[in-house]
Amino acid sequence: MSIERNIAAIRERMEASARRAGRNFDEIALMAVTKNQPPERIRDAYAEGQRLFGENRVQEFAGKVQALADFRDARWHMIGHLQTNKTAKTAELFSAVDSVDSVKLAQKLDGAARSAGNKIDVLIEINVGGEAAKTGLDPNSIALEDLLAAAPRLQMLSFRGLMIVPPFTEDPEGARSYFRKLRQLRDAIALRKLPAISMDVLSMGMSHDFEVAIEEGSTCVRVGTAIFGERTTP
Ligand SMILES: *Cc1c(COP(=O)(O)O)cnc(C)c1O
Repeated sequence: MSIERNIAAIRERMEASARRAGRNFDEIALMAVTKNQPPERIRDAYAEGQRLFGENRVQEFAGKVQALADFRDARWHMIGHLQTNKTAKTAELFSAVDSVDSVKLAQKLDGAARSAGNKIDVLIEINVGGEAAKTGLDPNSIALEDLLAAAPRLQMLSFRGLMIVPPFTEDPEGARSYFRKLRQLRDAIALRKLPAISMDVLSMGMSHDFEVAIEEGSTCVRVGTAIFGERTTP
């Protein structure tokens, strides 16, 4: 299937899920995840009107960004685990980081954003599954409270919401309880009306489970394989 057809099919499925859930399709963004994809294929998605993109490695994106310099109105989000020594490059290349998971990283990013002269939107990555190997903050942790409390001091960062990569299950229904928990956490944080914290964005759902995620309240689905096909390792 072509990228054009894939994007059209995903949009249709997103719309159907939104309808099932009684939600407005306009409030759900489709992010094209372009990791391991060469610039030509990313260009095909851009030609289809795709403007929101996600990459998970700073180095990889740095190698492609020149070839995509004419994408004036594209928005690039860093969605993978970010090391503090990559924050300067990140602040230059990305308009958002969806995977902030510590005060230390947020502070570094805030400093880097100030040096680069770019404000950065951020999401807090949550590990609802409690898996030791995964990144993201435990919903009940002091570390999450510390990050929420630090937000007013981090003036170059705009806290927009939460992100999750749930444990993989063959059956997309397996992700539903994680998505629901993330949404409940979002609602609970939003109710507290914390300074400098907005909770409008819930980034959840990937190629195999974005329909379930939309039913559970996702406002941004991150789709790679279903747009570009299986990734070949570079
Ligand atoms: C790769 C990746 C995706 C997209 O995964 P697909 O299954 O290919 O849709 C989404 N989110 C993150 C954080 C990723 O690393």
